[in-house]
Amino acid sequence: QHMSTSKLRQTFLDFYASKQHQIVPSSSLVPGNDPTLLFTNAGMVQFKDVFLGAENRPYTRATSSQRCVRAGGKHNDLENVGYTARHHTFFEMLGNFSFGDYFKVEAIQFAWHFLTEVIQLPKEKLWVTVYTEDDEAADIWINQIGVNPDRVARIGAKDNFWSMGDTGPCGPCTEIFYDHGEDIFGGPPGTPDEDGDRYIEIWNLVFMQFNRHADGTMEPLPKPSVDTGMGLERIAAILQGVHSNYEIDIFQNLIRSAATVTNATNLEDKSLRVVADHIRSCAFLIVDGVMPSNEGRGYVLRRIIRRAVRHGNKLGATGSFFHKLVASLINEMGDAYPELTKQQAIVEKVLRIEEEQFSKTLDRGLVILEDSLKALEGTVIPGDLVFKLYDTYGFPSDLTADVARERELTIDEDGFKAAMQVQRETAQKAGKFGTDYNEQLKSDHTTSFKGYQNDHISSTVVELFTN
Ligand code: ATP
Ligand code: MG
Ligand code: MG
Ligand code: MG
Repeated sequence: QHMSTSKLRQTFLDFYASKQHQIVPSSSLVPGNDPTLLFTNAGMVQFKDVFLGAENRPYTRATSSQRCVRAGGKHNDLENVGYTARHHTFFEMLGNFSFGDYFKVEAIQFAWHFLTEVIQLPKEKLWVTVYTEDDEAADIWINQIGVNPDRVARIGAKDNFWSMGDTGPCGPCTEIFYDHGEDIFGGPPGTPDEDGDRYIEIWNLVFMQFNRHADGTMEPLPKPSVDTGMGLERIAAILQGVHSNYEIDIFQNLIRSAATVTNATNLEDKSLRVVADHIRSCAFLIVDGVMPSNEGRGYVLRRIIRRAVRHGNKLGATGSFFHKLVASLINEMGDAYPELTKQQAIVEKVLRIEEEQFSKTLDRGLVILEDSLKALEGTVIPGDLVFKLYDTYGFPSDLTADVARERELTIDEDGFKAAMQVQRETAQKAGKFGTDYNEQLKSDHTTSFKGYQNDHISSTVVELFTN
């Protein structure tokens, strides 16, 4: 049963709405309620205070398709992009949530019903993991749902026990995997080859069951809750009969556009996947008010943009290309995210400025790197070279690491950090490579960008224009 990604998103929300869940729009990638979190990285983030009992909502069941970024902080999949079939920096997490309403039985039944009846996945392709100590969940899967016990793996806390923080709500998880077939390398969950891409994790159901105190003791919550997350792109891949997320409709169209703007000829090139992935995270981060900068969230954005520019350059791009993909992205996702369409001009502008700025030094930096690699002894790029590329040519260290990885080299991370530290101590300001973003945007404000102040754009952007 083939289904477009857009249709799938709606089908999921409609299913949970039919089970009395309130459909809640995606929140911003910049968490409004948690300054310690870099980016929204799961559907539950906007509900944190509801789970904690600190916020009340007029409903006890919710469902959403949440935009997520995992490119920094605790969950960082940046290094996986281009290397696995299933990781993006930006993805959408479909979820259903119970705030002290239903618990394990219904959560598992809903999920199974959705997978096997609504979208009709073959039962024999589904595998399940359960936390080692959660006999209740194992019993539901095996005795109520009827899953073959051979397909139910008991897993330890690393993957199957979730906690909000060192203290507070926590509890066991159960995860659902899909077997993409024996042609692909990988073993079932819980086996040594589980990191292969044959058995792909599609859904994580978290049972918030305990409250952990500072002394480590866990007390059962009076009203346990449920938080689930399923990767939209991973499910879309299954329904579109492909193995990799990068082969789904949205990505195929983005990859084709990326090939056009970079002059790439081989549509299978991994760099095209990187560029197609990165335009999503970069565009949506800007929509949510993040601006490239030298620190914090802005530096993560800058790193992703520069990485995309390097890959585009490798593919054969001449001149700036990245911002040209915003239009294609809007074709794919503008209906689901009208805020993207509304902010097209600013997103393109920010990307173009950043791209042009970096292009000035990218080529020279690469020449320096190539020359040094010729003379390199061993497989580790020295920290002072990584630092020089960072400081003089604007290469984030992960970009250098990305180049290194393509040649089976690594970088001396500690050496790089040490060189940074020395510079910090000697100079007043770390990094001579700065972009005068605010200046450029401000000067634009007086000319072509006036109209945006009245629009529904993020407060950060409004600030930039009105200051
Ligand atoms: P994996 O083990 O494959 O890295 P995860 O265990 O880190 O996934 P969770 O934190 O459990 O993922 O998130 C819930 C769901 O979100 C996953 O089951 C998966 O479907 C999806 N997901 C997680 N990370 C990504 C990503 N980087 N890109 C696309 N989908 C993702
Ligand atoms: Mg992960
Ligand atoms: Mg996992
Ligand atoms: Mg998981």
